[in-house]
Amino acid sequence: NPALTQFGDQMSHLTGVRAIMKDIIETLRAGQGQSFINLSAGNPVILPEVEQLWRDCTADLLASAEYGEVVCRYGSSQGYEPLIEAVLVDFNQRYGLNLTERNILITPGSQSLYFFAANAFGGYTADGQLREIVLPLSPDYTGYGGVSLYPEALRAYKPTLDIDVAAHSFKYRPDFSQLEITDRTGFVLFSRPCNPTGNVLTNDEVHRIADLAAPHNVPVFVDSAYAPPYPALNFTEMTPIFRDNMVHCLSLSKAGLPGERIGIALGDESIIQILQSFQTNLCIHSSRYGQAIAARAIASGALAHLSETVIRPYYQNKFAVLADSLDRHMPGDVPWYLHRGEGAIFAWLWFDQLPVTDRELYQQLKQYGVIVVPGDPFFPGLQEDWSHTRQCIRISLTAADGEIDQAIQHLASVVTALYQPS
Ligand code: PLP
Repeated sequence: NPALTQFGDQMSHLTGVRAIMKDIIETLRAGQGQSFINLSAGNPVILPEVEQLWRDCTADLLASAEYGEVVCRYGSSQGYEPLIEAVLVDFNQRYGLNLTERNILITPGSQSLYFFAANAFGGYTADGQLREIVLPLSPDYTGYGGVSLYPEALRAYKPTLDIDVAAHSFKYRPDFSQLEITDRTGFVLFSRPCNPTGNVLTNDEVHRIADLAAPHNVPVFVDSAYAPPYPALNFTEMTPIFRDNMVHCLSLSKAGLPGERIGIALGDESIIQILQSFQTNLCIHSSRYGQAIAARAIASGALAHLSETVIRPYYQNKFAVLADSLDRHMPGDVPWYLHRGEGAIFAWLWFDQLPVTDRELYQQLKQYGVIVVPGDPFFPGLQEDWSHTRQCIRISLTAADGEIDQAIQHLASVVTALYQPS
């Protein structure tokens, strides 16, 4: 094997949930014949109406004179002009903004956007000072765990818990008594709605975070992979918030286009320029085929419409099915708590005082043919030891209703046995 640099070593590890996915794929492969209920999927469901939209946009592109320009040529690093135009028109109209083409960058998926930001604004400055990437509310997206060339730059904050014991329900809140944004902060990052928890930070919480960042000129990146207007996977009222120091980051992956890798950053020109240079050095630009079909779906209004009428109701209904199954099957005397389902495509369960680790619970569920994701990889950057990180699991809202119900019956059996006094 060739010798690796510090970066090479850092980037050649699988971090977070990717490491678990490897185990899950091996389990599914080895278990030929055994049927598993897979509640671990991160891939969105292919919804027929949404697939049809992308087929129609593709047919339109194929039939147009534009086709050669789109796929047979390099383009601008900033993105394909008709997509930039479509997004700007839509956002300016929808939210009363004055964004210009200087405020936007198209990237190959939003994951790459966080990688650019993590290494442009986080890590060591020329004079050797560490600029932290602050995650104000842990748990959050596991993919943030691998974005920095300097993992020590990631700094996540433990939340406070709002618990409704009788309803077996809870919600994480940022702990403003602990959260620090200072001159040592490179940038702030959180997902809203949140993967894995389904949490939606309130407008007030978002403004408080931005208020803390503003005096230090610290950018706040809002990962809007599940937010309105596309894919609009919010089940509670929420409006995107735009402020000077804020970068609004979209993804079309949950709007049916994960394979085409489209991320979109909207923000201050000075920040966009830096991200764009990073992107030019790395990969020149995102695939133009995906951008050209996205331009059509956004300009026609079809994507926003399907997001509200097809994508959102699909997952919102799955969440209701899951919540109902939990209520019917889970033991009432066990301290299990479902995070409030305010959005995204996952549910998050916490077992207070769980007698085993989340990994052990994951293994025991596998014995019953049920695959979930243990919760501990969703606390990237949390530096203190906190038992709660080993008491949670993530359940994907992508399985069939009957499978969800059956899986929860198995979960109830495992958990009942675990909490039984010996
Ligand atoms: N952010 C969040 C919160 C996600 O859940 C995901 C994917 O699951 C991403 C970002 C990355 O998405 P993509 O790179 O496909 O845009």
